[in-house]
Amino acid sequence: MSMRIGYGFDSHAFKAGVPLVIGGLVIEHSEGLAGHSDGDVLLHAITDALLGAVSAGDIGTFFPPSDPRWKGAASSVFLQTALEEVATAGYKIVNIDTVLVMAQPKIVPIAGELRERVAELLGVKPGEVGIKAKTPEGLGLDHVAMAHCTVLLESLHAPEALEHMVATADAGSEEELNAVVEGLIGSRRDISALGRKVTPFDTDDLT
Ligand code: MG
Repeated sequence: MSMRIGYGFDSHAFKAGVPLVIGGLVIEHSEGLAGHSDGDVLLHAITDALLGAVSAGDIGTFFPPSDPRWKGAASSVFLQTALEEVATAGYKIVNIDTVLVMAQPKIVPIAGELRERVAELLGVKPGEVGIKAKTPEGLGLDHVAMAHCTVLLESLHAPEALEHMVATADAGSEEELNAVVEGLIGSRRDISALGRKVTPFDTDDLT
């Protein structure tokens, strides 16, 4: 089965006077995250992981900070674009895993809610989303929020191995064809699934 992985990272500094938005949730806290958009560090990391998994560039490629259209934008817009890129490339999400790194606020009490919100935005089940949290011990970065994300995708189309076997059947000898058929459907010699027609009799009988 054709699978791809992606990895994303992002960081934003805390800033007074703006709401804290993480994973599409507005979280009660004394400060928010500075950024051209809503500063949603988690959705930015997930967006980059998705884009990276299909080699479609990164969030800055699609939404440059210099573009005034994205000032204060909800980061779910970025995520939606990444999901469209994944679908266009012919893939769907198997699961994602994330790590949030920040001193405050504590993520554990809201991890379940975050997981459900992120799953909803991604169109997957909550059981396909991992939300983990760390404090930046020893990094001296208590004023910063960081997020890491890995994503696994699988092909929406026929597995590559099957395509390979069909291609072999189209070009190969009878022995190869037999091996392909047995690989596909066991010992039954029904090759209709391959879209290839064979004569119903032994051509040697014609001579
Ligand atoms: Mg960002």
